[in-house]
Amino acid sequence: MKADLRYEKEVRESSAFRTIESDLRRGEFSHAYFILSEDKDALDTLFALIAMRVYCENACLECKECRKVLMRSKPDVKYLAEGEENFSVEEMSALTEDAGMTSFEGGAKLYFFKNFERVSEAAQNKLLKTLEEPYPGVHFILSAANAASALPTVLSRVKQVILSAFPEEALREGLLRSGVSPERAARGARIGQGSFTRARALAADEDFARHVSEVSGMVRSLKKSSDVRSFLRAPFFSKDRILSTLSILEIVLGDAVKLHLGLPPTLSEIAEDLAEIAEMYTTAALGAALDVITTCRIRLKANCLAQNVADYLMLKMVEVKYKCR
Ligand SMILES: [Zn+2]
Repeated sequence: MKADLRYEKEVRESSAFRTIESDLRRGEFSHAYFILSEDKDALDTLFALIAMRVYCENACLECKECRKVLMRSKPDVKYLAEGEENFSVEEMSALTEDAGMTSFEGGAKLYFFKNFERVSEAAQNKLLKTLEEPYPGVHFILSAANAASALPTVLSRVKQVILSAFPEEALREGLLRSGVSPERAARGARIGQGSFTRARALAADEDFARHVSEVSGMVRSLKKSSDVRSFLRAPFFSKDRILSTLSILEIVLGDAVKLHLGLPPTLSEIAEDLAEIAEMYTTAALGAALDVITTCRIRLKANCLAQNVADYLMLKMVEVKYKCR
């Protein structure tokens, strides 16, 4: 029986997988790749597909090799920096030493880094030497949301590949196939901004409609900096919900931009609220506020407290509203 791998069809069709697949087919599998993507769900699938393709020509999901990859029982395939913890120089030393040893099964050795943004500068420097003088048959597949997290010296020694945003229809089908209900899959895909990770989180939001109205209510009430205090302890800014809140806020502000441009909003169900927000914020202010959201995501990734990020977000929103009148 064929094993199940989330979003397999969609990721297999991505240009990122096809690029690496074609390198493998031509016998030019690079000793190091850097995959740019913030879609961690899609990355998990991409990593599995790459690993399977290295040991099985079709990445068939059925043969012994593919099954071992899927069960993570291949001793020559290692997954690093998967969590939120920092990856230290000591860990990197152990890893580069490991990379220098002969493979267990006689084939290629693969090291996948899911959150390269978690790898310290000192650890990256440690890896540099191995990238400069690669061991035969040893491959590093690094990944991060953006290239800024990697040292320029590291970037110059890897092949950069972008895992592009997925079309709405691909997101919807992928979510459906992974067991999400049709209505929720459609919603997640519509507002997921090309990311399976975001689409899935938004599809899973139990109180989506309420969450949207809370966020739009917050935007409409933020008139001056003293208004910030009343929202600091709002449940939608809790550690668990702040990321979803940022995604929804991004859609709300993006919709206000669309209204300025005479385009139909994504969240048509709150059209009146959106019109009010478009009235409050100029296009320039909305653009600046959207940039603030990006900064907030980076701060959360860097382990800033949710409440501090919420404070910063709201103060900045009040500020850009005034600056860009
Ligand atoms: Zn196979």
